[in-house]
Amino acid sequence: MQVGATMELLRPLLADITVDGLSLVGEVTAEELGLTEDDAVVLGPLAVSLDLTNIEGLVAVTGVLEGTIIRECVRCLKGYEDLLAFSVRAAFVPEPKSSPRHPKRVDPRKARAEVVEAEPEEEPDDQYQYQGNQLELAPMLREHVILSAPMQPLCNNDCLGLCAQCGKNLNEGPCHCAVEPPIPAFRVVQSMKRKTGGSSDS
Ligand SMILES: [Zn+2]
Ligand SMILES: [Zn+2]
Repeated sequence: MQVGATMELLRPLLADITVDGLSLVGEVTAEELGLTEDDAVVLGPLAVSLDLTNIEGLVAVTGVLEGTIIRECVRCLKGYEDLLAFSVRAAFVPEPKSSPRHPKRVDPRKARAEVVEAEPEEEPDDQYQYQGNQLELAPMLREHVILSAPMQPLCNNDCLGLCAQCGKNLNEGPCHCAVEPPIPAFRVVQSMKRKTGGSSDS
């Protein structure tokens, strides 16, 4: 079964994920994924191809996300197009129906600390929760896009960067700066102390 419309693509109904699974193929925009320009500058829509299987409420999502992200090279500071194609892997589990937290009044600061502590640490990063009978795929896909960003984006592994002196992009050609200004290794100390010269006094 295939679903075309974007909203259905990003919010599949649990009931549609049958034993045979559900294939979701389509295009989504950065906006639909909740991606802001701070997260990633996406050029055009992202192609999504996902397979969902439902095993007693545990929904496994696998697939591929493809698109073009504009990144800034750390060496030459120029924007470049990064063609992405990465696999998506996630599991969705139903959100627990009853909140384990007691409604008793507690110091809000204390309560917050408790919540932080209660967060399971062993849970795999790619596990998400769904409420009711519908999955929200957008936050999961958004995270995948954000995590795809390299720590040191480079327009090219051989990027020459900018001239430290004039700032010219050296990928576009050499600049007229000297390779390295001849810095004397040491200054000749000219102020040689005149020891008691020829002139005699007293
Ligand atoms: Zn560069
Ligand atoms: Zn230069």
